Amino acid sequence: MFASGVIAIARATRQHEAHDVTALVDDLLARGLTAGATDLHFEPTGGEMLVRLRIDGQLLDFETVPKRLSENVLSRLKVLASLLTYRVDIPQEGSVQWPEAHGDGQQEPVDLRIATFPTIRGERAVVRVFGHRSDLNALDRLGLPPEQWSALGQAVMRPDGLIVVTGPAGSGKTTTQYAMIRHLAANASERSVITLEDPVEQRIDRVTQIQINPYGELDYERCMRSLLRQDPQVILIGEVRDSRTAGIAIEAALTGHLILTTMHSADPAETILRFLDMGIAPYQLVSALTMVCSQRLLRRTCHECDLDSRAACQRCLGTGYSGRTAVAQLARIDEPTRRLMLQSPTTTQLRARFKKQGPDLLECAGLLVTGGITDEAEVARVLGSGVPEIEERAR
Ligand SMILES: [Zn+2]
Repeated sequence: MFASGVIAIARATRQHEAHDVTALVDDLLARGLTAGATDLHFEPTGGEMLVRLRIDGQLLDFETVPKRLSENVLSRLKVLASLLTYRVDIPQEGSVQWPEAHGDGQQEPVDLRIATFPTIRGERAVVRVFGHRSDLNALDRLGLPPEQWSALGQAVMRPDGLIVVTGPAGSGKTTTQYAMIRHLAANASERSVITLEDPVEQRIDRVTQIQINPYGELDYERCMRSLLRQDPQVILIGEVRDSRTAGIAIEAALTGHLILTTMHSADPAETILRFLDMGIAPYQLVSALTMVCSQRLLRRTCHECDLDSRAACQRCLGTGYSGRTAVAQLARIDEPTRRLMLQSPTTTQLRARFKKQGPDLLECAGLLVTGGITDEAEVARVLGSGVPEIEERAR
């Protein structure tokens, strides 16, 4: 139903006649944030400039800006992020806290990362919103059942080991990690917590956060080597994407540190096999790994409209969905799992093992459909028929 990934909002787009570009940009940013956008796209089309919002993972048409103002809008965005306004021929990237302090304390500032890119029709820009209020979820607000979020909470209170959150891009891995770090900061404030992130998306009190540059001097490997001399107890590594980072994460987890990280993999079984493929010895992995949380995000069904009133619904902007919930499968590395991991297991064997521990992603999603939180179309969109779990079942 949403195969294109783009939904045109039913209401007519408003034509801006504002000549004060600063006010126009402020207004677009403010209304975009109020609508819950995680990204704002400013795209030159043939005629006017199209402004689109990404909300709950979907891109929606929002506004159009007259062609004669579009260059000024781009310039204003560049000024905000301290970019070079006179360079229109190169991609640029910068960030800003917005709104700048007004002293009234009414609006909580958010971090915006503004990236421009030259196209044949002029420059386009994407404004990414970090530290959005909807991201500031505690563990019990992610939408997971109590037994799952309490298990995550207990896992981060352990003194050492490795906890991996997995899923494809845009599955809420970072939000879950932040919730775990905030849980730690609130419940174990005596522990020294350091994060290595690319980029730092939310600021957390009492936590040392480091911005990684994976292609520069300050990459994960180099940071980790030096960081272990900073006496950390808990280290968040943004993502394990190669064997060197994996090796360092395992080594740190085996030497008395608690390591939190993420990985792009479909489910817990695949996560374990990827670590082994990256050259981690099975005996090291069984000693280090404590838990794998495999997750996705599902849009919540809008409860303020029905099919007849949907087009005019301000809550869901006509999409039928409002907000998202996490859905997860938790895999604990218990004694039977450790024994299996030492015997060169197949994905099927590992999946069967984890099924004994609790429901998989599809079963958890089914419970959300039964509970009226989301619907079958959304589950099919996110988990699809290409999900390994379904293929396994068909055999
Ligand atoms: Zn609605």
